[in-house]
Amino acid sequence: MTGLRFDLLATDGAARRGRLQTAHGTVETPAFMPVGTAATVKAMTPEAVAATGAQIILGNTYHLMLRPGAERIAGQGGLHTFMNWPHAILTDSGGYQVWSLAQLRKIDETGVTFRSHLDGSAHTLTPTRAIEIQQMLGADITMVLDECTAYPVKHDAARESMQRSMRWAESCRSAFNSRPGCGLFGIVQGSVFPDLRAESAAALARIGFDGYAIGGLSVGEGQDAMLATVAATTPYLPADRPRYLMGVGKPTDILGAVARGIDMFDCVLPTRSGRTDQAFTRGGALNLRNARHKDDPRPLDQACGCPACLGYSRAYLHHLANAKEILGLMLLTWHNLHYYQDLMSGIRKAIEAGTFQAFAEQVLQAEAAGDIEPLG
Ligand SMILES: [Zn+2]
Repeated sequence: MTGLRFDLLATDGAARRGRLQTAHGTVETPAFMPVGTAATVKAMTPEAVAATGAQIILGNTYHLMLRPGAERIAGQGGLHTFMNWPHAILTDSGGYQVWSLAQLRKIDETGVTFRSHLDGSAHTLTPTRAIEIQQMLGADITMVLDECTAYPVKHDAARESMQRSMRWAESCRSAFNSRPGCGLFGIVQGSVFPDLRAESAAALARIGFDGYAIGGLSVGEGQDAMLATVAATTPYLPADRPRYLMGVGKPTDILGAVARGIDMFDCVLPTRSGRTDQAFTRGGALNLRNARHKDDPRPLDQACGCPACLGYSRAYLHHLANAKEILGLMLLTWHNLHYYQDLMSGIRKAIEAGTFQAFAEQVLQAEAAGDIEPLG
């Protein structure tokens, strides 16, 4: 029995238009989840995040277990109440951050022991503990603990790592208490090896999850290998359950993955880029520090309806970037998240209309055409 309802509303080729019903509202798919690492989507109020059209955000178990602590958040009524985000939340299991941030990791069959990157304190994450923490946070979607396989990696080592992740997935399934509107997602591993991905997907489907994620990508393999791996995996995933490609990606990555049957995405790119003066526009990515913007009264993206584009010029945003003003980071983050949500909305409408391929080509062509000509 699943606590998470998912309806497939339309398909267009392998692209899927769906609807996920969570305990904290509906999520229209394909969906993009802004990353709220430390119980905040950086530089944005939760009200502003919702105003961009986001219906679900991602929280990080690793960061929250270390600071302020899962028990403390539970004591404040859970993550939704604590951070004032009444909509859906997916929490990752912490596996990826343990590999990328923590020090002195020791991994064995029972789990991983590590030292906090904040204060060096020792912590242990087991499959059972990862589920327990996410339940204390009150996640609508909980992720299994998996081992983040190194990249590049030999086939033997990738198989061994993937098989351990599958054993952990089974332990996570046993530890998870099903609640209405909440679910547990398994994570497919196997690096860029199609046979391992197929084996992993089949193993997870046998255990049975509310949704299926593809992990271990966007780790330096490049877009072609990433999309080929997605294409080699999705046929082995149950068609009636949502599919989530973790940590991906650029707008073109998202279009390519939707075309191969992915329903959900998360990535730090729109928020992190907003804090480094980068903007995603219909004419490609822009750097607001570039002097070409300094006397330009036009908006970032004339087709965008976000507050940054409706009220502010490129000249002003350039000034804010140069002066390192906080408002610059806020406006660019808002625009970037709005751009991503516009992209997802366009994708959903195109799948419904059976015109996804044409929509994707039009987005790619506009991006290839580049930014508007400088004035004068
Ligand atoms: Zn905008």
